[in-house]
Amino acid sequence: MIRLDHRDGSADPFPMSYMYDYELVRSRRRTISIEIDKEGRIKVRAPYNVSSLAVKRFVDEKSEWIERNVLKMKDRMAKLGEEDADIAETSTDELLESLAEDARRVIPHRVAYYAKIVGVDYGRITIRHQRTRWGSCSFKGNLNFNCYLMRAPEEILDYVIVHELCHRLEMNHSERFWKEVARVMPDYKERRKWLRVHGDELMKRRFDYGQ
Ligand SMILES: [Zn+2]
Repeated sequence: MIRLDHRDGSADPFPMSYMYDYELVRSRRRTISIEIDKEGRIKVRAPYNVSSLAVKRFVDEKSEWIERNVLKMKDRMAKLGEEDADIAETSTDELLESLAEDARRVIPHRVAYYAKIVGVDYGRITIRHQRTRWGSCSFKGNLNFNCYLMRAPEEILDYVIVHELCHRLEMNHSERFWKEVARVMPDYKERRKWLRVHGDELMKRRFDYGQ
């Protein structure tokens, strides 16, 4: 399996700043999520097998998003003083924007990396939020990726990238196409299955980071 660590470009082995107090709730889930309640308190949900250091780093990476939303919550509380403002509704756009920002930061590196392995070139990379596709590749080699992929494990994002890059060789889903995918990613079938099973969850619009 090919593993990269692009999400943390710094490759800093030491923990970063511990800026936030948060409540950590472990459960049988696959990814880390951050929720901010109406009082601006932070709750982080994480799988059992993710170290608390990894959780801290994740939280640090999302510091801008957290700050923005904590302030917003506090602001609203102060202004409205009421319970049920539709905070969740208005924040989802910010969530999407934050996912798209991450995608623009992470995906181009990974595409460049895998393009060399697949042995192809490509055109523009566009990040979208769409409900029907994880990625696409045009005849000219322009690539689209869905920002909700940023909620998936890295292995899954890589699969989508390799899949789209292999369309530079075969613009179809023929046997030859899948052979190319398998050459680069022998375990692609498992990843593909994961995406089929969990894809809908990734697209749930919720006021938290990840699901
Ligand atoms: Zn395809």
